[in-house]
Amino acid sequence: MPYTGVGSVTPMTDQDADILARLRLELDEVDNGIVRLIARRLDLVGLIGREKAGGAAGIRDADRERQVLERVESAAREHGFSVPLARKIFTEIISHSLARQAAFLSAGPQGGAREVGVAFQGVAHAYSHLAAQKYLGGLGLAGRFRGFRTFAEAVEALTSGAADLAVLPIENTTAGSINQVYDLLRTEEVHIVGEETWRVDHCLAAPHDVPLTSIRRVLSHPQGIEQCSQFLRSMPHAEARSYFDTAEALKAVADAGDPSQAAIGSLEAAEAYGLVVLRRAISNQEENYTRFVVLAREPQRLDERIPSKTSLILTTRHERGALLRCLEALAAQGLSLTKLESRPLPGRPWEYMFFIDIEGNVAEERMAAALEELRVRALYIKVLGSYPARATAPEAQPAAVKATPTERDRAEILAGSAPTGPAPATTSGAPVSAPPPRSSHYRLADRAARSEDTIVRVGDLLIGGTGFIVMAGPCAVESETQIAQTARHVRDRGAHVLRGGVFKPRTSPYAFQGLGLDGLDLLARAGQAVGMPIITEVMAVEQVRPVAQRADILQIGARNMQNFNLLREVGKLDRPVLLKRGLSSTIEEWLAAAEYVLAQGNGQVILCERGIRTFESATRNTLDLSAVAVLKERTHLPVIVDPSHGTGKRSYVAPMAWAARAAGAHGLLVEVHPDPGRALSDGDQSLSFAEFTVLMEGLATVTPPRR
Ligand code: PEP
Ligand code: MN
Repeated sequence: MPYTGVGSVTPMTDQDADILARLRLELDEVDNGIVRLIARRLDLVGLIGREKAGGAAGIRDADRERQVLERVESAAREHGFSVPLARKIFTEIISHSLARQAAFLSAGPQGGAREVGVAFQGVAHAYSHLAAQKYLGGLGLAGRFRGFRTFAEAVEALTSGAADLAVLPIENTTAGSINQVYDLLRTEEVHIVGEETWRVDHCLAAPHDVPLTSIRRVLSHPQGIEQCSQFLRSMPHAEARSYFDTAEALKAVADAGDPSQAAIGSLEAAEAYGLVVLRRAISNQEENYTRFVVLAREPQRLDERIPSKTSLILTTRHERGALLRCLEALAAQGLSLTKLESRPLPGRPWEYMFFIDIEGNVAEERMAAALEELRVRALYIKVLGSYPARATAPEAQPAAVKATPTERDRAEILAGSAPTGPAPATTSGAPVSAPPPRSSHYRLADRAARSEDTIVRVGDLLIGGTGFIVMAGPCAVESETQIAQTARHVRDRGAHVLRGGVFKPRTSPYAFQGLGLDGLDLLARAGQAVGMPIITEVMAVEQVRPVAQRADILQIGARNMQNFNLLREVGKLDRPVLLKRGLSSTIEEWLAAAEYVLAQGNGQVILCERGIRTFESATRNTLDLSAVAVLKERTHLPVIVDPSHGTGKRSYVAPMAWAARAAGAHGLLVEVHPDPGRALSDGDQSLSFAEFTVLMEGLATVTPPRR
């Protein structure tokens, strides 16, 4: 059958067809040759990688990469083809080669497994699927891929163990960040072990080869529609319809077989679903890339020689210049930022958390030093992981660190773009003297690490510094009326936080153990009704996350002060923690326990003195008010006092509360019950409503020490 080219008028002769067929054959051979040569190149790269693995040098050699690119560019020039095209092709090949070499230095995200289960969002052939295939291909691994309806479901497949990795899009060079994925990184216990980029090349595809004018409906993901808006304006007769994702839109069009419908998506997916491509390259911007993150349950240990990125989440302190101080900690170690992104903090209007990508690996000394400093300067940090860098602008890879920052660098730091050199010693530029030595047991909690007081923020409430706050409520939540009545009373008398135990650490297993999560529900509703934040105790690791979803402050009780797993768990959350002093713990041990929380990245620790064991038996415990003075000297963390457990007897509570304020404490934790005689726990030390009123009135007359 004679070939008729699109739009040609004269039919082809048999001779023309012969020539065309021969040329195509030759073209196929050239293509095969190119693939063979690329394979040979990768083999050579592998051999070089093996050599490098034996030595100490890093696998990235910027000079060598530059030379390679210059050489191919000049060859392209000689052969008269596009220099930018040559650069593009070889940049991609080099990036692939680096991944190959990195594979020699690490066991990979799956510690050596050859086949991995990968979860992604979307149907088969979605961009996420394509990127996941590219990522595994780069490591020489095979994958079992499974698409999920939502990002959250893909992450759930990972955390539940149904998948080994999840590959999720995090940003697009034209549409920007994908917020849902950022939120999952914040809330879920997952680690970034890799990244991948995919060039988004949208096409318009339909079940039949029809003219564009006959298309009445175009399906795609909203981003696909947005990214091709200019092209779609040339099709005024077609309405755009949103779909879950581009591949699903293509599949729907293929399944329906309706000649008036088309979809926007990748060439790969259009071909996989047997569609005819009506137009290629229809995106508004030719250079349209999506960056994907590869997530695993465990962080990956990376060889220092692999060019890496580290991603982290950071919440700044409630003070001026807070972000700048954090960025200076990175710059001081010569670390470059490749990305800084801010997101609103849920439930805290106009406050932000920052997502930061830094060049470097947590295994490096300078990164470890920067992270330690960040743990002091930020209120909360979560290290999401270190992973081989695949998406980095070439100019963001400094050959050497600049010696001193310029005014422009500082302005850039302030504006949130990449800082490029070591930071000035202080924000004012004044030289600093050598910092005082820090305790080896509590380096981050030590006053020497931070001369200003830490202010812990709970909504609008500030704890620490010059303020004085009162947390009050029953020992245990017993019933809806009990907690609701108490909440109203303590709020009306000026308390700031509502307390109530729902998991109770009782000396006897036969005593009332608390209402558990049902009690938490009652506490949360009572707090909400009176507009007060709530605090409750967690006793076990598995209680931490469910309780953190409802409670504003998590309490670690005296009996658990050295429950290190529990401390580490609350240290992973962006949630204030009240750490009570252990029954027989020294102040040193107590600060070292606080350090467990800080070292995980959560700087929002409030210390609570609640009395210690001594030979004295006239009181339940001996309230150590001197601890307030000692702590204020040794640490920057806020210190509050619990005179209820500290004395064990109602009549001693108010005097000790007043004394605590006079001693300089930042607040109180007090037990109050509507009917202390009938309390299910700690009735003897619980104040009646009238007694709490007296305590609060007396408190107003106490003058705190001058600071
Ligand atoms: C409490 O505050 O309810 C409590 C059990 O306190 P502690 O851990 O200090 O005994
Ligand atoms: Mn109690």
